Amino acid sequence: MRPRIVIVGGGVTGLTAAYTLDKEGDCEVTLLEAAPHLGGKVGTAQIPWHDSTLVVEQGADSLFTRKPWAIDLAEELGLGDQLVEPQAKEFSMLIGGKLHRVPGGLVTLTYSEPDAVNEADFLTDAAKKAVTDEPTVPAGNGSDESIASFFRRRFGEEFSRVVAEPLLAGTHGGSPETLSMKALYPAYFDLEREFGSLAGGMVARKRQRTEDPVEPRGKRRNTFLSFKNGMGTLVETLVGRLGKTRVELDTFVESIDPVEGGLKVTAADGRKWIADDVILATPAYHAARIVQSAAPEASERLHAIKHVSGAIVTLAYPANAVPGGLSGTGFLVPYHEKFPVTGGTWSSNKWPGRAPSDTILVRLFLGRFGSVDVDTASEESMIEIGKRAFEQLFVPKESPIFETTHRWRRALPQYEVGHLERLDGIVAALTPLRGLHLAGTSYRGVGIPDCVRQGRDVAQSVLRKSSINHE
Ligand SMILES: Cc1cc2nc3c(=O)[nH]c(=O)nc-3n(C[C@H](O)[C@H](O)[C@H](O)COP(=O)(O)OP(=O)(O)OC[C@H]3O[C@@H](n4cnc5c(N)ncnc54)[C@H](O)[C@@H]3O)c2cc1C
Repeated sequence: MRPRIVIVGGGVTGLTAAYTLDKEGDCEVTLLEAAPHLGGKVGTAQIPWHDSTLVVEQGADSLFTRKPWAIDLAEELGLGDQLVEPQAKEFSMLIGGKLHRVPGGLVTLTYSEPDAVNEADFLTDAAKKAVTDEPTVPAGNGSDESIASFFRRRFGEEFSRVVAEPLLAGTHGGSPETLSMKALYPAYFDLEREFGSLAGGMVARKRQRTEDPVEPRGKRRNTFLSFKNGMGTLVETLVGRLGKTRVELDTFVESIDPVEGGLKVTAADGRKWIADDVILATPAYHAARIVQSAAPEASERLHAIKHVSGAIVTLAYPANAVPGGLSGTGFLVPYHEKFPVTGGTWSSNKWPGRAPSDTILVRLFLGRFGSVDVDTASEESMIEIGKRAFEQLFVPKESPIFETTHRWRRALPQYEVGHLERLDGIVAALTPLRGLHLAGTSYRGVGIPDCVRQGRDVAQSVLRKSSINHE
């Protein structure tokens, strides 16, 4: 009999797992998704706009290419010619109510780019000196610590607060004082352990790459890429490739229990499936409910992975309403800065084809701090806050000609210090559910590339296991 595999959750993780099983395995695959559509937190709205289109991302808008798995998948799916590079690169930091350009090289967060550090007009001389001195700071003891603690220790308080924390913690919607360096940024964490300093490690790594004859020089990609028609392209293409997978939409899975010969998956409407393996690709708090009766300890530990909410307000203005136009890709707001939004992206500046040339399209992020609780606020009030923030920065001469918002409840997982050890505890506590595998944004990497990697890896490990069992 062919192995029976059920995937719960049809976001990027579940879809990648299904695609991999479909392509590489001879098994019976069923994908159960609670929503009436697939894709989870990735989706693009194409808004007809006069003779053109506004490409409005509802969630994610880019792929980080240093984690190559999503780009590799896109190329495998034949989407290489759909990938687009940012038209602008630099972004700004909001400090003291004003936007300051962040020199490109500063995002390496080390002194490996001295010109960038010296050019940063918002850093005091003392902060610049602390960055320069980083190679002399003794290495930590290798135990996990928060993003704020790591960067304060290595670069001093100011650089940590106005550069490292907004860059690394801001995008997670969380507090730099609690988010785990080891779980979220293992590359930086390991540089310190291996080379004693980040700047020294960067330089050594660069040298290794140059000397490595296998590294294809000149083929390096831009750090971020997107798709011509938005991130929805990835989801739509994956869905189109699910030839053998049976997809059940509007199917909210309530529980998974061990039974003779496998696992029983039960949906809220009473339907049941028996599987040899189940890939549970939902956020951790859903997984916690699903495994509660069979593995209560795992459930409790899954509940301990916090998730915070966020919202995106998208606005379009006539280009001539913003005197001087917009520059760069957008801005970030440090944690302690008082401002109504946590950051923004100038979508029409950043990516080609997001809006006609006489229109600017911007996204503003709400959540974490600022003046609104995104769980309870009305859509109108969130749009108002987005508009107010933009008006404070640019004083547009006209009101927006298009406005929309997308709320994401409990969408941003918080990998707090000790996250990886917490995961080990969860896996150990799942023994009553042999054949159950967790994957997705709550666990081993929050962004799309990591979700693709987790989806592919879990599918391949299920296939390896079933080929051994069926030999
Ligand atoms: C506002 C925002 C902006 C982001 N920007 C970026 C970005 O620019 N780049 C990037 O790489 N990443 C970004 N991310 C992160 C990225 O979108 C997510 O990591 C990724 O989409 C998560 O995929 P997933 O499949 O693990 O989870 P999800 O997308 O959450 O999918 C899980 C699926 O499980 C389903 N489900 C839940 N419970 C059940 C149940 N009981 N039964 C059946 N189905 C269930 C849900 O309906 C959902 O479809 C962003 C996230 C947000 C919220």
